Amino acid sequence: MNFNDFKLGEDGLLPVIVQDYMSSQVLMMAYMNEEAYKKTVETGKATFYSRSRKSLWIKGETSGHYQTVKEIALDCDQDTLLLKVHQEGNACHTGAYSCFYRYLDATEGNYIEVDTYKQKDVLSGVYDVVMDRKVNPKEGSYTNYLFDKGIDKILKKVGEETAEIIIGAKNEGKEEMVYEISDLLYHLTVLMVEKGANWEDIYKELDKRR
Ligand code: AMP
Ligand code: ZN
Ligand code: ZN
Ligand code: ZN
Repeated sequence: MNFNDFKLGEDGLLPVIVQDYMSSQVLMMAYMNEEAYKKTVETGKATFYSRSRKSLWIKGETSGHYQTVKEIALDCDQDTLLLKVHQEGNACHTGAYSCFYRYLDATEGNYIEVDTYKQKDVLSGVYDVVMDRKVNPKEGSYTNYLFDKGIDKILKKVGEETAEIIIGAKNEGKEEMVYEISDLLYHLTVLMVEKGANWEDIYKELDKRR
């Protein structure tokens, strides 16, 4: 498929939506010309055509906020691309993670700025907290207690929580099992931080098996 097979606008440009490949958060939209498209496919770094500067634009060239392309999708009528990327830093030049940081207030009819942060799933959020404890230990923290005791203590907890899931699942209803699975996932997160793995590694491995 060549660039000219796309259904281009009158300006010869192709609109491109950019999405965070982990969270599906929409980051920005921009345009590509043929050169930008070829560069993006060749280099794996999102490259656009700047309509204001009328020139090729490697996203992150000046800011360092590069976008590493994980997947490229084409829409039904071939007039829009979707780029799924790993975003370095922030997508928006204003410093927001996503360019879409203004939300319509329907009663006032104006747009209100909100803090866009990097949207994360709950497990990644838990990971961040555990990692933060490791880097900045906190008085009385159970997570720091586990790190201080070391890997054998963490592994023992993983074993215990696994046994508790088995007991919980044997009981009526799902509540106890849900509670124990949550315990296990927390302790697995501590283990992963200890071993230098993260949820992205796990998602990648699981995704490979689909
Ligand atoms: P960067 O590509 O991140 O190094 O930024 C270089 C310049 O590109 C900025 O100063 C902006 O003019 C423009 N720019 C960067 N990111 C965006 C964006 N998400 N939407 C529109 N323009 C952008
Ligand atoms: Zn379309
Ligand atoms: Zn922006
Ligand atoms: Zn438990």
